[in-house]
Amino acid sequence: NIPLLEVEDLAVEFATPDGVVRAVDGLSYSVTAGRTLAIVGESGSGKSVSSLAVMGLLQIPPARIVRGAIRFKGEDLLTLSPKEHRAVCGTHIAMVFQDALTALNPVHTVGWQLTEALRARRKMSRREAAARAVELLDMVKVPNAKERIKDYPHQFSGGMRQRVMIASALAMDPEVLIADEPTTALDVTVQAQIMTLLSEIQAERDMGLILITHDMGVVANVADDVTVMYAGRAVEQASVFDVFASAAHPYTRALLRSIPRLDQKGAGLEVIPGRPPDPTSVPAGCPFHPRCGYAEDVCRSDPPPPQHTLRYDRRSACHFAERVVQERGGVR
Ligand code: SF4
Ligand code: MG
Repeated sequence: NIPLLEVEDLAVEFATPDGVVRAVDGLSYSVTAGRTLAIVGESGSGKSVSSLAVMGLLQIPPARIVRGAIRFKGEDLLTLSPKEHRAVCGTHIAMVFQDALTALNPVHTVGWQLTEALRARRKMSRREAAARAVELLDMVKVPNAKERIKDYPHQFSGGMRQRVMIASALAMDPEVLIADEPTTALDVTVQAQIMTLLSEIQAERDMGLILITHDMGVVANVADDVTVMYAGRAVEQASVFDVFASAAHPYTRALLRSIPRLDQKGAGLEVIPGRPPDPTSVPAGCPFHPRCGYAEDVCRSDPPPPQHTLRYDRRSACHFAERVVQERGGVR
């Protein structure tokens, strides 16, 4: 299965008043048609930044792509001009953001916005575009699409607005869809509905889906593959099965413990002690060491090999990956 999208050894820096921040450092992943890759991590881990780089939205200061490749069907988008890069994304790779209310224009109807989005990229009469806009809303199961198209964003519920955003992302029939925390702003029931919708659409169209999330519960339900990010690095990469059966990185284990479990009502979820590192001063050695229950002296001095490969094509950036992975139940 040839990857649709391949990110290889990507590094992104930002110039800040406190110095240069390496927001993404050596990230690699790939997505094939019909599969879902979840990119997981706390805020500031580099998961959103890496997606903005894929979309061609980071070619201007203060951002800088320091190295790496972003290949769509084998073509490195970073060798194109920023304009060409964004043109590829406009047609083949689409992105859905967390906050649908700020992404939609409040002064225009939803129909107007979908129609304009279509006409900006495709030769279409206004009438054709309007008909297509209704189809798109139907596709994302907005009830009564023919009428709703005349409504303004504020007349939609949060969940319905997110459906409109998904419709807009699908306007160009993208082959890859990147959804950045698409349900974070919504209540739990609606979250589940939107995730189901995304999975259905992905299966119908055989798209590659990249789901950016901090929620391991969502990962369990929809992902095929998982990339866990910490301090701009991929710390664990494996199939969803392997991650949940026996995570090979202590940070992944900590994330798993933070999933609320229905069978342990009232137990409260365990929050990972400490905070993610300040990006201007990432700890030496393994960046996770101040929060890691497995840490030993070597962790404070030597960075773990970035892609320590375990059996079955899984990777963990931890000095003690083998030990961690064997400790199935016993989490520290
Ligand atoms: Fe913990 Fe050390 Fe592994 Fe880092 S390398 S995750 S500090 S055990
Ligand atoms: Mg984010």
